[in-house]
Amino acid sequence: MTPSPLAITLDDVQAAAARLAGVAHRTPVLTSHTANDRTGAQLFFKGEHLQRIGAFKFRGAYNALAQFSPAQRRAGVIAFSSGNHAQAIALSARLLGIPSVIVMPQDAPPAKLAATRGYQAGQAGSEVILYDRYTEDREAIGRRLAAERGLTLIPPYDHPHVMAGQGTAALELLQDVPDLDALVVCVGGGGLIAGCAVAAHGLRPGITVWGVEPEAGDDTQQSLARGEIVHIDTPRTIADGAQTQHSGQLTFPVIQALVRGVLTVNDDQLVRTMRFFAERMKQVVEPTGCLAAAAVMDPDGPLCGPGTLAGLDWRGQRVGIIVSGGNVDLGRYAQLIGG
Ligand SMILES: *Cc1c(COP(=O)(O)O)cnc(C)c1O
Repeated sequence: MTPSPLAITLDDVQAAAARLAGVAHRTPVLTSHTANDRTGAQLFFKGEHLQRIGAFKFRGAYNALAQFSPAQRRAGVIAFSSGNHAQAIALSARLLGIPSVIVMPQDAPPAKLAATRGYQAGQAGSEVILYDRYTEDREAIGRRLAAERGLTLIPPYDHPHVMAGQGTAALELLQDVPDLDALVVCVGGGGLIAGCAVAAHGLRPGITVWGVEPEAGDDTQQSLARGEIVHIDTPRTIADGAQTQHSGQLTFPVIQALVRGVLTVNDDQLVRTMRFFAERMKQVVEPTGCLAAAAVMDPDGPLCGPGTLAGLDWRGQRVGIIVSGGNVDLGRYAQLIGG
């Protein structure tokens, strides 16, 4: 049996880049001598914490909404999220003049609620709908609203337009640093790594792509080992952007085909990496945004140092690292890096 084709191609990522041109920030590629000395590699950090809304999710959301038909635009978009996807949809919708309905849990962090409402301000038909996550089913709420109002649901990762949009982060990185040997990307539901792997292998076929997820939420690592999507309970980790229970029907086959392996890091390693970014590179990075860097740079990280992983040696290699986001409540941030 021939495997079914992957959900997206390099052409889709390039088309997304054209839609995002002049709308998304072309984020900088940061470097650090200290990080290079520590690993013996040359590291190139793609700074998506400096993207609009503070995370790469703007790329996928805007790429999806920009392809709505006139009827879809008039009716509006619906998304459920308490995190960066909510803000990405709300801002993209406002930029495109599309009403947005965002379904968030009642106990979502007030700062995230306020940011989402701020992006919706002045947009007729846009609203946040709160639900009780202990007694109500958000999928049911979403389905009812979508049916009543004719809204189009855009999921946070398992959608070809979202995946292609996220891939533009790697596309830009490889345009700026064409001769990368490896690319390391965090994994939640897999939208970012799927898009980035398609872009990276398309532009540079010999590259190796590694995924990194929280130790407590190693569903993708388990899924690769089993050869099918494994579902886990919501993991307890400070990496709240990667608290997904399973990868997607569209993202998983891409990961299987194009990702060399998925590794894990724990919360202590994430905190040490947040401190490194703050102290050495003067960057505020949220815990989830540190996953890929922690695997490579933390002294106990699975990709740090020679001989750690099947004799893998980073010395002299040119390694791209996606820094995925920087949205963290400041009080929480101070607690984590100060503790
Ligand atoms: C959503 C998110 C992730 C995980 O992305 P997936 O596409 O679900 O794998 C990682 N980091 C940040 C900051 C995010 O917002």
